Amino acid sequence: MTRMDVLQNNKSRANDYVHEVYEQLKRRNPAETEFLQATREIFDSLRPVFAKYPHYIENGILERITEPERIITFRVAWEDDQGRVRVNRGFRVQFNSDLGPYKGGIRFHPSVNSSIMKFLAFEQIFKNALTGQPIGAGKGGSDFDPKGKSEREIMRFTQSFATELSKYIGPDTDVPAGDIGVGKREIGYMFGQYNRLKGGYEAGVFTGKDPNHGGSLGRKEATGYGTVYFVEEMLKLKELSFKDTKVVVSGSGNVSTYAMEKAIQLGAKVVACSDSGGYIFDRNGIDVELVKQLKEIENKRISDYVKTYPEAEYHDDCSAIWSVACDIALPCATQNELDEIAAHLLIANGVIAIGEGANMPCTLEAMAAFQESGVLFGPAKAANAGGVAVSAMEMSQNSMRLSWTVEEVDEKLHTVMRSIYKSCLDAAEQFGHPGNFVMGANIAGFLKVADAMVAHGIS
Ligand code: NDP
Repeated sequence: MTRMDVLQNNKSRANDYVHEVYEQLKRRNPAETEFLQATREIFDSLRPVFAKYPHYIENGILERITEPERIITFRVAWEDDQGRVRVNRGFRVQFNSDLGPYKGGIRFHPSVNSSIMKFLAFEQIFKNALTGQPIGAGKGGSDFDPKGKSEREIMRFTQSFATELSKYIGPDTDVPAGDIGVGKREIGYMFGQYNRLKGGYEAGVFTGKDPNHGGSLGRKEATGYGTVYFVEEMLKLKELSFKDTKVVVSGSGNVSTYAMEKAIQLGAKVVACSDSGGYIFDRNGIDVELVKQLKEIENKRISDYVKTYPEAEYHDDCSAIWSVACDIALPCATQNELDEIAAHLLIANGVIAIGEGANMPCTLEAMAAFQESGVLFGPAKAANAGGVAVSAMEMSQNSMRLSWTVEEVDEKLHTVMRSIYKSCLDAAEQFGHPGNFVMGANIAGFLKVADAMVAHGIS
């Protein structure tokens, strides 16, 4: 056989392997659309890896990496302010621990189900690997809807959730953090409940804590800032920067707010942001301090923005935010919020770069449209990894019993984001797809975990 024949053989073996495992995955998880979407994207990226390194096939890495080590589902019963008993469903998906303790956020949102939990935990494997920190991957949450609930109801629900969750977590086994609907307040309730049940103080069991009570400075800013740092690196490929660009950011929660803040600090004008009710367009540039006041402090709707700035516009369709012309779009709200139609609108309006601050905010079709049009595309696994990277720094600070300054954390975050960018760039180039950060992120993250899985033996 010639060298060409061997290469061709390896290629078709890799294609068959990927195809078979994906078909099997579909049969075993028929209704889990988000999970299948997330795995599909990874599978498509990994073909050249299996062609080059067939020992991953022999070790059954793809079959193993797509099956969670453990999924815990539990009842969360609590009492509302009227004394009525309510029941929600809790989840913790402990997906992969080959690089360290399971690590990933907790989401409280009515859409939470096993498919969403599994897709988020699965993506976390590659993201956490990319950070270079010793952390495995997990995700958890509940279909509890915090909207319209009183402070006390949120506390009672969260304590009940944490009572069950506490059986499965610990500083060296599984370290949850926040996500949609879970911020430092909810983390505080879970942390308090965990410590009461354990009869001690284990600072390292949760991250995203209030910096006054064991949390890291710079954690709440980390995901949004990190996304902008990643996009900043991509822009350099075209000798561009954020300066004087027009930016659109979806959402107005934790990730969006600090993505807007950093983009503005770097000289951009953010002209639109949203919440699940609609979006605002402010051609003079969004006042991010007002957004913080409305959403972080007063728990109001983004529509209230126009009460202070009547010249700004409010539109009550959040998905229409992508019709606003911009140079850089940062989807920072939720999964599948930017579809193919929105992608074509952005492209037609001359978008240069996309940075995924949310997890899987672009559909597969939208992503393909951006890549085919030569738009710089920073995928979530890489672009939003800054949050978990600083969470890992919080774990280090907790175990050393010291705290770093906000400047120290931000500098370390910046270094991590540059290094993630470089890993993606190099992996994409090495496997024949230069400039494709989706493939680069998937491959670089995969290689790190797959090598650990091979080293740890079949399990
Ligand atoms: P938050 O709960 O703080 O904010 C979510 C925001 O998105 C809210 O403003 C919400 O509006 C809005 N929103 C929800 N659905 C839509 C929609 N369809 N269109 C427009 N806006 C919408 O969550 P986070 O900022 O923490 O998380 C956002 C995303 O980032 C998620 O995908 C999360 O998994 C991901 N992520 C978060 C990290 C973190 O550190 N927090 C780390 C890495 C990823 P409303 O107020 O109306 O609910």
